[in-house]
Amino acid sequence: MSKTWRPATQLVHGGTHRSQHGETSEAIFLTQGFVYDTAEAAEARFKGETDGYIYARYGSPTNDMFEKRMCMLEGAEEARATASGMAAVSAAILCQVKAGDHIVAARALFGSCRWVVETLAPKYGVECTLVDGRDLANWETAIRPNTKVFFMESPTNPTLEVIDIAGVAKLADQIGAKVVVDNVFATPLFQKPLELGAHIVVYSATKHIDGQGRCLGGVVLSDKKWVDENLQDYFRHTGPAMSPFNAWTLLKGIETLPLRVKQQTESAARIADFLADQNKIAKVIYPGRKDHPQADIVAKQMTGGSTLVCLELKGGKDAAFALQNALEVVKISNNLGDAKSLITHPATTTHKNLTDEARAELGISAGTLRLSAGIEDTDDLLEDFAQALSKVSS
Ligand SMILES: *Cc1c(COP(=O)(O)O)cnc(C)c1O
Repeated sequence: MSKTWRPATQLVHGGTHRSQHGETSEAIFLTQGFVYDTAEAAEARFKGETDGYIYARYGSPTNDMFEKRMCMLEGAEEARATASGMAAVSAAILCQVKAGDHIVAARALFGSCRWVVETLAPKYGVECTLVDGRDLANWETAIRPNTKVFFMESPTNPTLEVIDIAGVAKLADQIGAKVVVDNVFATPLFQKPLELGAHIVVYSATKHIDGQGRCLGGVVLSDKKWVDENLQDYFRHTGPAMSPFNAWTLLKGIETLPLRVKQQTESAARIADFLADQNKIAKVIYPGRKDHPQADIVAKQMTGGSTLVCLELKGGKDAAFALQNALEVVKISNNLGDAKSLITHPATTTHKNLTDEARAELGISAGTLRLSAGIEDTDDLLEDFAQALSKVSS
């Protein structure tokens, strides 16, 4: 397998392991276990003297193909596929901390990610400090002698804030801490956290990697040493393994990732520009636009805009609801990364559990909407927004 392949080629051929039948499409090995020719062979497999699978909770052939393909794309040595994005996030964080350790995390996190560091980790004696991750000085100030992990998403959900990954990685290296980046919003195509100095990357494969709204999945990627010393035993014994059927679905999904993300990003960029000119819109945040609050960091660490757009209606909740209800092509859903364009009102859905103050800190107002652009014809999406906006009273 060539490491010099470009992403679109890696995503079609990377990690493929054909059976004796020479099938074109990857096979699904929907098996829990594996048989051994002899008792001696079983003993050798368990001792680690021979290569091969033991039990699907540890690893299995279809999952292995998915993991190898993701490693190639990400430039990682090792990966573990998990049943959901949250299984990936919680495994990546919890496998490397113990009571008495400290985590610093950006406060702008996907709701469940925030729960893991803010509520779950402290139950086990792991302290957590949440910071406004946009300013590097906040990360530095939060460091304590026992800080072991830095955790962030960039761009963030839903307001598409951007964090200087290389800057945080430099701080972490000074104190021997590890940086975990949830790279869902950037996709593996537009941002390479490991190249920027992060140590561990996690994805919800549920989003762009499946890309067609079918199954949940996640993946943790890092170097071999970190996986061997931290994730390996945690993964085997706590059991967040992905179903081989889902690994197969995701292998099929990932083949078309570059095509879909290209189309979604082009649509998102055009919709962002269109909305920015409308008088019923207070503001548009889009990482590909020059007026993004951190356009300099976007330029430094991302090679593409985003498939997501954050917009704020001047008319608050009433206007935001009216716009959503008037859209015909764009569907109302809290998911993202799908082939179908989806729009959500964070204050009443994904971020409803936060206090008003916490939402305000994140820039989420009653008029904020998050759009995930799908792969429909861009002109149909633009016409849909135009007709829907005309129904919003100003
Ligand atoms: C969706 C999402 C997750 C959780 O993934 P699931 O597959 O739903 O468990 C984590 N982080 C981000 C940024 C997400 O968008």
